[in-house]
Amino acid sequence: AYAPAVEAPQYADVARLLPVPGGESDKYRRGVLGVVAGSARYPGAAVLAVAGALRGGAGAVRYVGPAADAVIARFPEALVSAGPVPKAGRVQAWVVGPGLGDGHGDAGERLRDVVAADVPVLIDADGLRLADASAVRKRGAPTLLTPHAGEAAALLGVERAEVEASRLDAVRELAGRYAATVLLKGSTTLVAGADGGVVRVNPTGTAWLATAGSGDVLSGLAGALLAAGLGARDAGAVGAFLHGLAGRLAAEGAPVGAQDVAEALPAAWRDVR
Ligand code: AMP
Ligand code: MG
Repeated sequence: AYAPAVEAPQYADVARLLPVPGGESDKYRRGVLGVVAGSARYPGAAVLAVAGALRGGAGAVRYVGPAADAVIARFPEALVSAGPVPKAGRVQAWVVGPGLGDGHGDAGERLRDVVAADVPVLIDADGLRLADASAVRKRGAPTLLTPHAGEAAALLGVERAEVEASRLDAVRELAGRYAATVLLKGSTTLVAGADGGVVRVNPTGTAWLATAGSGDVLSGLAGALLAAGLGARDAGAVGAFLHGLAGRLAAEGAPVGAQDVAEALPAAWRDVR
């Protein structure tokens, strides 16, 4: 028999994986997500990643970076600080990268500390460009990379068109090179594990998701799922599924902004359960 190269998760698969709180739950058991994102130039990326995390089921979100004021103004429930990445504390997973900018100064140090952390880490956007590849490969805990085609091309040292023309090869190649799970975003979103095997293709989504900040929401959402205890492949697949569904529910055939997508996440969740 031929083993399939790709498979699409169904509603029931995703429903089984949703981290729904029970009587024993408290905010720590639900998962504390740390977020290192945003810069003076791109504070909104931090706000959108935190939005995705809070509506993605995180028990608490700890934001560290220069957009602390913008984050707290929008989300009083977030814990914010502008200093270094806390070494101790209860952070169960990190998201690093959205809107980080050029990585000068504190941002580069925070990125290195997060990559060195012994908990699951999701690396997106500027974090993908700035992270040291060998440090990523050496990580002990799970790693989830979430590039779009352009970011994947830059990591592979090829043209974007080459990634678009062979997305399955590209996502597998990246997963092998980085010893990480890779979620390749785009009109067909793919999730590949580090050790080969079946690639998950996301069946939800809409081209209306091609809007600024949309990927930042996904990074917070998938990060929250990592913090809740899902493995990197499941966090990627469930995150992409809910994000795509939220995009459809928010858009319904008309333009939406990334905030609208984040706000539709609870409805997507209800749809799946
Ligand atoms: P980013 O480029 O980081 O902002 O992420 C964009 C998000 O929108 C990802 O979740 C993509 O999968 C999604 N997206 C972008 N273009 C399309 C498209 N043509 N069809 C469906 N989803 C898309
Ligand atoms: Mg992005």
